[in-house]
Amino acid sequence: MTDALIIGGGIAGAVTAMALKKAGHNPAIYEAYPTGADDIGAFLTIMNNGLDALRAIDAHQPVIDNSFAANEVEFLNGQGTRLGLQPLGGDGDINGPRTLTRATLYRILHDEATRRGIPVIHDKRLIQALRQDDKTIATFADGSTAAGDLLVGADGIHSITRSIIDPTAPAPRYAGLNIAYGYAHDADLPTAANSYRMIFGGQAFFGYTTAPDGQTWWFARVPAPELTETVPQSEIKTRLTEAFAADNSPAGDIVAATTDEIHLSNAYDVPTTPTWHRDSMILVGDAAHAASPAAGQGASMAIEDSVTLAQCLRDITDHDQAFRTYEHLRRPRVEQLVATSAEDGARAAQGTANAQDVTDRQDTRAWLYRHHIEWDTRVTPVA
Ligand SMILES: Cc1cc2nc3c(=O)[nH]c(=O)nc-3n(C[C@H](O)[C@H](O)[C@H](O)COP(=O)(O)OP(=O)(O)OC[C@H]3O[C@@H](n4cnc5c(N)ncnc54)[C@H](O)[C@@H]3O)c2cc1C
Repeated sequence: MTDALIIGGGIAGAVTAMALKKAGHNPAIYEAYPTGADDIGAFLTIMNNGLDALRAIDAHQPVIDNSFAANEVEFLNGQGTRLGLQPLGGDGDINGPRTLTRATLYRILHDEATRRGIPVIHDKRLIQALRQDDKTIATFADGSTAAGDLLVGADGIHSITRSIIDPTAPAPRYAGLNIAYGYAHDADLPTAANSYRMIFGGQAFFGYTTAPDGQTWWFARVPAPELTETVPQSEIKTRLTEAFAADNSPAGDIVAATTDEIHLSNAYDVPTTPTWHRDSMILVGDAAHAASPAAGQGASMAIEDSVTLAQCLRDITDHDQAFRTYEHLRRPRVEQLVATSAEDGARAAQGTANAQDVTDRQDTRAWLYRHHIEWDTRVTPVA
């Protein structure tokens, strides 16, 4: 049995810990914040492939119980013309996709990890890690340390583990987009139940879905310089209203009807991280590779990584060989996703999508949604 230090209690951290436990190891999670993480106000969608990976470790049900279905996306342009309908490849209820707030996802994954006997230790911000006497020693900002046989960096897009493994690793790249999220309460707004409606506006991209309680959950992706300071709420509303003013779409009304806080942040990606592992330290999720939010797959890919890494560490005793095998299995897929998501973001930023673009998107996405992980299949080590 391996003692695994999991750095980061986000999506990849909690799922890696549960998967490693199922694989017969002994994980503990060290999370920097007292609870949760950045962008906690946003919502996200776990795609079919993400739910499939959760099912491999029997962790899918809490997600299904705390989310709602999104079976398809209807695309429109800024003039209000319908461009097409993209089925998302599942039946929503059982196979995904499922939409929920990030805060809810973190909470249920933590609850499930705790229920499985995994320690989740908060207020532990990793600042250094090194190999010493056959152990990996993690040092935290409060001066405390922890020792394990290996360390998994699940510490997100601004990962410190990434730079500990390779101080020359490329920094996250600004994707040229500000991302806004909000929740509107107004019965007169148009609805999109069990689906998303997404609009290629002339200046910005807009999407919304209707939750079972009638609330409108929406996001906007606005081409803009990188934010360097907090933008006041009134200013966010003004910027969004201006961005959607020329469109024939409900975006402006939905933004106007939002009385709760609107969350605004920068979108980054990490197209490639040359070194994923060193000295019994390995990266998963956004720490290894991060897609801009356009493809809506970052969380699902983090979950796939986590389960695949645990399978490798279950079937391959030598950690270095297990890590090489995990990287071999994961790198091509996740880097293809980052490129796909960057293309989606750029296309949306141009505001010029047509019906053919929607058809193309539909035809080229099966490799994402149909990915399946069979927990019991033994992993073949790479050399
Ligand atoms: C605005 C936005 C919208 C998105 N929408 C979607 C979507 O719809 N669908 C989708 O699949 N993906 C979406 N994503 C991407 C998705 O959120 C990420 O891919 C996913 O959260 C990655 O999971 P992770 O566990 O690797 O990282 P995170 O979820 O970021 O978790 C990292 C954890 O590590 C902790 N941590 C950081 N540093 C340290 C440290 N030094 N020591 C200890 N702990 C540390 C953090 O506090 C955090 O809890 C979106 C991302 C953004 C920014």
